[in-house]
Amino acid sequence: MEEEYFKENLTDREKETIKPYFSSVERNVFVLTNLPEVIKGTLFSRYSRSDKGARRLLLDEFIPNKDVAAAMGNATNHEDQILAINRAEDFYQRILVGYGDDSVAELAGVHIACENISSIAGDLLTDSRIGISPLEKSARYILFDKQVNGRYLWYRDPKIMASKHARLYEETMDLIFSSYAKWLPIVQEHVKKVTPKDPEATDRAYESATRAKACDILKNLLPGGRLTNVGLYGNGRAFEYLLTKIYSSNLEEGRQLAKEMHEELAKVIPAFVKRSQASEYITGTKETMGQYSGQFHKEVAEETPYIRLIDYDKDGEAKVLTMMLFPYSNMTALEISSKVANMALEGKKKLVKDYLSKRRNRRDKPGRALENIYYTFELCANYAIYRDLHRHRQLSQERQQLTANLGFDTPPELAEIGLESDYNEVMKKAKQAYGEISKDFPSEAQYVVPRGFRMRWYMKMNLREAHHLTELRSIKQGHPDYRKIAQQMRNLIAEKHPALVEYMMVDMNEYALPRIESEKRIDQKLAELDKRGNQNAEMSK
Ligand SMILES: Cc1cc2nc3c(=O)[nH]c(=O)nc-3n(C[C@H](O)[C@H](O)[C@H](O)COP(=O)(O)OP(=O)(O)OC[C@H]3O[C@@H](n4cnc5c(N)ncnc54)[C@H](O)[C@@H]3O)c2cc1C
Repeated sequence: MEEEYFKENLTDREKETIKPYFSSVERNVFVLTNLPEVIKGTLFSRYSRSDKGARRLLLDEFIPNKDVAAAMGNATNHEDQILAINRAEDFYQRILVGYGDDSVAELAGVHIACENISSIAGDLLTDSRIGISPLEKSARYILFDKQVNGRYLWYRDPKIMASKHARLYEETMDLIFSSYAKWLPIVQEHVKKVTPKDPEATDRAYESATRAKACDILKNLLPGGRLTNVGLYGNGRAFEYLLTKIYSSNLEEGRQLAKEMHEELAKVIPAFVKRSQASEYITGTKETMGQYSGQFHKEVAEETPYIRLIDYDKDGEAKVLTMMLFPYSNMTALEISSKVANMALEGKKKLVKDYLSKRRNRRDKPGRALENIYYTFELCANYAIYRDLHRHRQLSQERQQLTANLGFDTPPELAEIGLESDYNEVMKKAKQAYGEISKDFPSEAQYVVPRGFRMRWYMKMNLREAHHLTELRSIKQGHPDYRKIAQQMRNLIAEKHPALVEYMMVDMNEYALPRIESEKRIDQKLAELDKRGNQNAEMSK
């Protein structure tokens, strides 16, 4: 039996009042339900300045405020509720003013959808770290051959469309999309020819897997101006900074997006996005740093794709071994490290084995000792690969501007089908359009660059994140292009620290039809769900 004095002292009437807002009005562990995010955030922030529990706080301090009560759902409709949330602004500010730290804004979370934005704007949103969880319409499962009112779905940038480049831009974008639409069935047919259906796969699984492969092949055509939908879940603090960053974007689309997101977020977490605005610090720094671009500039010729390990921690191995032992020792890090330095090679190998070899699969995360060693990779690879790898939030990474000057990749299958020269022609036209548009609008010209074009970026990561990235990005169902990068990263690390990668679970194989096994598993799961549904229906008869 739970001790009574641990419990919140609530009358039956009070319990009844707050029941909709907590998963339990009895237990010491409970979830907040049906409360607007800003109220959840301010309610939790009161924790650190009150000896009351959340339920008592809601009753004593929040419900008596009529705007807060209306915001909690007493309002007659959704619009009234939003108005009430905003009317209670002073109330939140009075609570929040007591805190010297921005972290209280992490206590409220919001799902926000940004639809029909360009891929380039999508990159601005996903260039976020901890606090933002994005998901974007996939170029692998969605076809981009659709027209609405006779128009393909690409972003009509106001600056370009009002300029002398409008016609060139429009023709190039239409050429790219119509080529994609024309080639998609041809490519899928080819995929079916070279990877015949195995008898264990259903028609659905085979159709999905071959279509995904065709999309993978043609994904290189999709330009920066392709329209996409991005959903973000994030907390107030992360949104506040994200808005500030995109308000300060070079692109009109980014600034407009920031404004619209800000307006919508202010309806639900007004107190937490209050300070978002264009930052003179960010725009000013971009301007002053931009002055160096002439000095650090060369005539760009086409570049062969590469991934290079340009820097790594030379003393890293000893640091990692020391920190593997640290939590299990009572010595100082320095003392452990001098003992480790005197260990024989066999002893060191055994230590690594003891620390890492029990992992069963990639979801068994290696320990934090691996965070004590860093590797910096520079990559010149296509924009499609960048977009996928960019999504890893724990690393340090930055890119140069997307251009059409570093050359492009041609998926080998297009040569097998006989579409290589047509593809090259489309890419050549895109490069010409980029060349013209970028003379006047260097940032906006990115919209016309297809994903097959190469760009440069760097990624600096510790060995723990390197395990996560290379193991995840080499899985069978991954895109072959980024699978290769993951495998190369593993090999580059292995050249420097072979002992430390021994237990990395990187899949080094190649696969002809990557999605087929996943599709078969989906079929199995669907069949199980159908079976369960039929059993439930039988039972309820
Ligand atoms: C096969 C495949 C298909 C994909 N399909 C799509 C798609 O259709 N659309 C799309 O938008 N993306 C897609 N992605 C990208 C995917 O959604 C992730 O953004 C990407 O894989 C980064 O992975 P991560 O979050 O595990 O890694 P990182 O961001 O590098 O994070 C590393 C680890 O840190 C922890 N972590 C980081 N942030 C958080 C957080 N906010 N909360 C909790 N834990 C956190 C987690 O343990 C995480 O694994 C796909 C990825 C793969 C591999």
